[in-house]
Amino acid sequence: MKRPAKLGKSERELIAAATAAIKQRYRDDWQEVGAALRTRSGKIFTGVNLDAYLGRMAVCAEAVALGRAVVDLGDAGIETIVAVRHPPPGEKDQTIAVVSPCGACRELIFDYDPQARVIVPNGKAQAVVPIAELLPNKYSRGSEG
Ligand SMILES: [Zn+2]
Repeated sequence: MKRPAKLGKSERELIAAATAAIKQRYRDDWQEVGAALRTRSGKIFTGVNLDAYLGRMAVCAEAVALGRAVVDLGDAGIETIVAVRHPPPGEKDQTIAVVSPCGACRELIFDYDPQARVIVPNGKAQAVVPIAELLPNKYSRGSEG
């Protein structure tokens, strides 16, 4: 596997946007993850997760960010996306940190931009990897190859 790309200014800016979103909207048990994406046109959209009493109704922060982008711009692609998790109050010595997208979000990100780049944790640092690398053997209906 290729060595993952190091973060540049634009990736750090995206992490900062996701961090700001969850710092502003954190609610224990309800909003704990923030996300930010940059469209192909260079615009940044943020989201926070929507947890729900009925667990399966929960929506990930990445999906909320993507929804905001689609409403504003239509299909603008995803150049880069990142999610960060805000620790609950009881978690001592934890800070807001980059988390990997869940499996469902990997599918979603790929569907909206197969060339998207994703910022993921890499030891104590972060790395930028192509979505295809995070989703080998992506789901497809039999007839679509
Ligand atoms: Zn997810």
